Amino acid sequence: MIPSNISLDSALADAHLPALLMASVHLTGDAGLLTSERRAVYDPLADANQGGYSERVQADIRAIAKAAIEAYRAGAPIPPEPSRATIRKMMNYVAGADIPEHYVEFLMDELGLGGPDTKTPRWEKAALKTDPGTMHALIIGAGMSGLLMGFRLKQAGVPFTIIESNPDVGGTWLLNTYPGCRVDNPNHMYSYSFEPCHDFPQHFSTQPVLLDYFQRFAAKHDLRRHIRFGTTVEEAVWDEAAALWRVKVRTAEGAHEMLNVNAVISAVGQLNQPRYPDTLEGYGSFEGPAFHSARWRHDVDLTGKRVAVIGTGASAYQFVPEIAPDASHVTVFQRTPPWATPSATYHSDVAEGKKWLLEHMPFYDKWYRFFLFWLLTDGVYAMVKGDEDWHGPSHSVGVANQQHRELLTAAMHMQASDRPDILAKVVPQYPFGGKRPLVDSGGWIATLKRDNVELITEPITRIRPHGVETRDGVEHAADVLIYGTGFQASRFLWSMRVVGRDGVDLQTVWAGDARAYLGATTPGFPNFFMIYGPNTNIVINGSIIFFSECTVRYITGCLKLLAQTGARAMEVRRDVHDAFNVKVDKANALMAWGSPHVNSWYKNAAGRVTQNWPFPIVEYWNATVAPNPDDFVLSGVKETETV
Ligand SMILES: Cc1cc2nc3c(=O)[nH]c(=O)nc-3n(C[C@H](O)[C@H](O)[C@H](O)COP(=O)(O)OP(=O)(O)OC[C@H]3O[C@@H](n4cnc5c(N)ncnc54)[C@H](O)[C@@H]3O)c2cc1C
Repeated sequence: MIPSNISLDSALADAHLPALLMASVHLTGDAGLLTSERRAVYDPLADANQGGYSERVQADIRAIAKAAIEAYRAGAPIPPEPSRATIRKMMNYVAGADIPEHYVEFLMDELGLGGPDTKTPRWEKAALKTDPGTMHALIIGAGMSGLLMGFRLKQAGVPFTIIESNPDVGGTWLLNTYPGCRVDNPNHMYSYSFEPCHDFPQHFSTQPVLLDYFQRFAAKHDLRRHIRFGTTVEEAVWDEAAALWRVKVRTAEGAHEMLNVNAVISAVGQLNQPRYPDTLEGYGSFEGPAFHSARWRHDVDLTGKRVAVIGTGASAYQFVPEIAPDASHVTVFQRTPPWATPSATYHSDVAEGKKWLLEHMPFYDKWYRFFLFWLLTDGVYAMVKGDEDWHGPSHSVGVANQQHRELLTAAMHMQASDRPDILAKVVPQYPFGGKRPLVDSGGWIATLKRDNVELITEPITRIRPHGVETRDGVEHAADVLIYGTGFQASRFLWSMRVVGRDGVDLQTVWAGDARAYLGATTPGFPNFFMIYGPNTNIVINGSIIFFSECTVRYITGCLKLLAQTGARAMEVRRDVHDAFNVKVDKANALMAWGSPHVNSWYKNAAGRVTQNWPFPIVEYWNATVAPNPDDFVLSGVKETETV
């Protein structure tokens, strides 16, 4: 709920001051407010800080904002948009960094600073050879990405159907209901850029809040009537002669049905097929309840139980602190510890005054989003990029990376100085950024310090009927076994069979080594597109929503290209695809997650990083604003079969 009866002074007391100053520049039109003492300086370990301003400067900014808001509420018009040079200066001031010129356009687009959503598809019918109304696209998945794709196609006037196995929308946020599940990058950036939510109750929303956000999005834009729930795509086969995908779906009743569509868009996600430690000896022999965190058994009461948790990844890091107070004992088995970045706001509510400003002060929400966006994405890119001539310890990949390691290690020392036994186990020996860093509010180490919690680093040798045995021969007794073992992330698109030109199976082509051009298209598979496909994941705390927004714009642009040219099919050129992947592999090898000293789910069995985007994200934005027609082979002009 946005508070309605809050005093302006108390709202301003809760403001993020750099964002407040920039919104004031918009309301007053006065670029002179950008004095040197009002340029933010950040402490990387204190994300909620106020730009390093002195008390005097803080009071000063609040007074300026108060006058600006009062004038605006009294009817003063908003002055024309600041010049590009001023906007760039404002960005520098909020970021506390000199942002390169080529970022300005990208950031203005991402923030929608110019007003209307710049990502809305604009198709001029007169310039199209194919009526978009005669095309039909099939979207697979109604999670964050599939809903977004549907929304954009609706705007473009392209008929579409979304096929979803689950009974509801939300994907990740429908399935992960484990205690403590929440987003680990702030919600005011983990939300669609064009669909802000000013009443998120917390900075890092919990799963029910996120699910509600996506459910509301589907309802608001009337997407549900395009979705067939409880239905699974089993197979999609390209029919070259008809230039159509013949898609076999299994309905909720178990019947099979064929759908014929011009384009197939996979939005099946990367993280929804649980990975079980099924190669462990004795797997399946545990006699008590055993389940994966993504399939949480809410019928199993953990109160007073001995619980064994395998894994210390992102999910376990969130649910172990939640279950420990009720369980009689929790044994946590760790292979590698996670890095975590301290955050004062990880579990805290959004102050009422901040909600009021987000809703009522024009541009405040945009600049607050920018602050989060920059500081959690390209603003920290240097920390996870290797120095080519790095000769330091192998637990870092460069100077900035090593410095950040020292900072985070110091934070862990502060929390566990009284428990050297724990400290010895929680400081990672791989570079920061080798795996997606988690968010540390002190809860993890505090939980490990509890009398009823034990962190085991001895490798597991087998699962026993009543516990878990480790290499030292100890059997750790348990009543309940929980797998916090993550997802089969390298198995892209494994929920279905995709057969392209000449009967070639996508999984055969990939052979466990998924590749695509811009994560979206692959040669031999005309009119087949992917969202959150290979190499579109991010490690430092950016939001996947940003990537999906870029990919969706790109795919919408591809369909527009078909309509503009009247072509029936488009297929990325193999040389373009291959050259792109060479570049990606080379760049990934230099990143913290590509380091030979890191073993993670980002790498497939062959050791190649199939998940991550290795460049600054501005480069993905640049490459996906619109498809380059020269990258594609367009075929079969006109006489498209209508479906
Ligand atoms: C616990 C957890 C926490 C996360 N936290 C963050 C975070 O903090 N920040 C962040 O940026 N990202 C996070 N992620 C990543 C998250 O997956 C993405 O942010 C986002 O939700 C992906 O949305 P999606 O629509 O692409 O995929 P999903 O949400 O996985 O949705 C895919 C949908 O496709 C459906 N589907 C799959 N195959 C078929 C088929 N053959 N037929 C029909 N339907 C099918 C599935 O049922 C599912 O509903 C997290 C992931 C997990 C698991």
